[in-house]
Amino acid sequence: MADFKNYINGTWQDAAAGAQFDNRNPADRNDLIGAFPQSDATDVDAAVKAAKAAERAWKLMPAPARGDILRRAGDIFQRRKGELARIMTREMGKPVFETTGDIQEAIDTCYYAATEGRRLFGYNAPSEMPNKMNLSFRMPVGICGIITAWNFPIAVPSWKIIPALVCGNTIVFKPSEESPHSANIFAEILEEAGLPAGVFNVVHGAGAAGSAIVEHPDVKLVGFTGSTETGKAIAGKSGQANKKCSLEMGGKNAQIVMDDANMELALEGVLWGAFGTTGQRCTATSRLILHEKIHDDFLARLIERAKTVVVGPGLEDGTQMGPVINEKQLNKVESYVAIGKEQGAECVLGGRRSDDPALANGLFYMPTIFSKVNRSMRIFQEEIFGPVLSVVKVSSFEEAVETLNDSAYGLSSSIYTQDVNKAFTAVRDLEAGITYVNGPTIGAEAHMPFGGVKGTGNGHREGGWTVFEIFTEWKSVYVDFSGTLQRAQIDNYDD
Ligand code: NAD
Repeated sequence: MADFKNYINGTWQDAAAGAQFDNRNPADRNDLIGAFPQSDATDVDAAVKAAKAAERAWKLMPAPARGDILRRAGDIFQRRKGELARIMTREMGKPVFETTGDIQEAIDTCYYAATEGRRLFGYNAPSEMPNKMNLSFRMPVGICGIITAWNFPIAVPSWKIIPALVCGNTIVFKPSEESPHSANIFAEILEEAGLPAGVFNVVHGAGAAGSAIVEHPDVKLVGFTGSTETGKAIAGKSGQANKKCSLEMGGKNAQIVMDDANMELALEGVLWGAFGTTGQRCTATSRLILHEKIHDDFLARLIERAKTVVVGPGLEDGTQMGPVINEKQLNKVESYVAIGKEQGAECVLGGRRSDDPALANGLFYMPTIFSKVNRSMRIFQEEIFGPVLSVVKVSSFEEAVETLNDSAYGLSSSIYTQDVNKAFTAVRDLEAGITYVNGPTIGAEAHMPFGGVKGTGNGHREGGWTVFEIFTEWKSVYVDFSGTLQRAQIDNYDD
């Protein structure tokens, strides 16, 4: 059996206590990928010490030179794309065409960060005093603890790790216990690109290892992607310890289809949004809001199309929807389907595991659609994180917007309409960090701000230029070349 290690100070190491956990392929539970270190606070401390020892030299390396290393990392991700996509699919299930896209996001992020190494702009402003200059600079924050979910094993970590590195921070990364192999390839790629030992460290393990990172006094920033429940716990601890903390959490995203929409386009959108990545995206479409004039026809066509979604192992050609990540998640999906029925929604498609004998060793659930859903139902309000879509009928544009906004979350939103006035009103009024017009809720571009409002985030945005706000601290510099003591706010005004 393959025996995987932590990556600390440029070397591959077992957990100090020797504990391990197994990782299996969700498409075939008999396929054991390997054993990984079940790390604890001792291993986290070793990684933090390595990150601390590497901190000064890394911070003093010119940012364009740090960017050059990340550009090379992008080249290596590109070279290893095919191999890594299959590794990722084996450990977390989504089809290879999706894992290939996952890696492309990391490549885009590397190239973007490489150029940012030549910018990292501060801004200058005139002084209110004569013979004095005011400047400002972006400084690294220090050691960053990065903790992530499993559904984007390369893309999501890259959104944090790559910008953090170009800004001159060092890192302790705890990937999800469901997608640990990809994290080791991430380390291999950064090492080959020329990253000095200790700048980037990987510590495997469960929530306890993540907790140890959050609680370590030398970790200055926590960058987290995962459930709202875990994120809130991390926010509490980070607040107590006065650490910077950036959170990307759950979602309950909705697509509106108005009566004037291009129906075929809207159908394709919801199929991809609801069942892409088996509904296990923070941006997945789990609520569909249909105008009453097109409700019956659209729903009938949607059911017919969803029946044709090819469910199977992501490593097989032709698969459109892979398995659910683990037994716990499969049970959660099943329990929500039962809750939906109990509360009076009508299950019009799926609502069961796959009965294909060829898939018996995997965790396969069929595309599921509920109609007659109302806003008080739990399947409308709570994140299920599986291939379950709840359909709600509305009678006006205003009701559609109000229905979409009736959520504790606010990540992604979508409206299909040909009416430019409705489109722009929705852009203004939908309470979400992301709004798509005539596109599904899922998908993001690496150079655009990414994140959500309400229960989804805590005010930060990854991606693009906004992520550099997370991973830098501002320093304001005043240079007085007057040769006199100038007292701002005192010498300039008489009273
Ligand atoms: P999770 O919260 O269970 O775990 C996320 C990470 O936190 C894992 O690495 C886990 O080991 C770690 N962890 C667990 N308990 C911890 C603790 N007490 N202290 C520190 N770390 C701890 O989430 P998950 O099931 O892996 O992922 C699914 C969730 O992630 C969904 O809610 C989804 O919406 C969300 N997600 C959000 C985004 C986004 O950008 N907003 C992206 C992907 C996934």
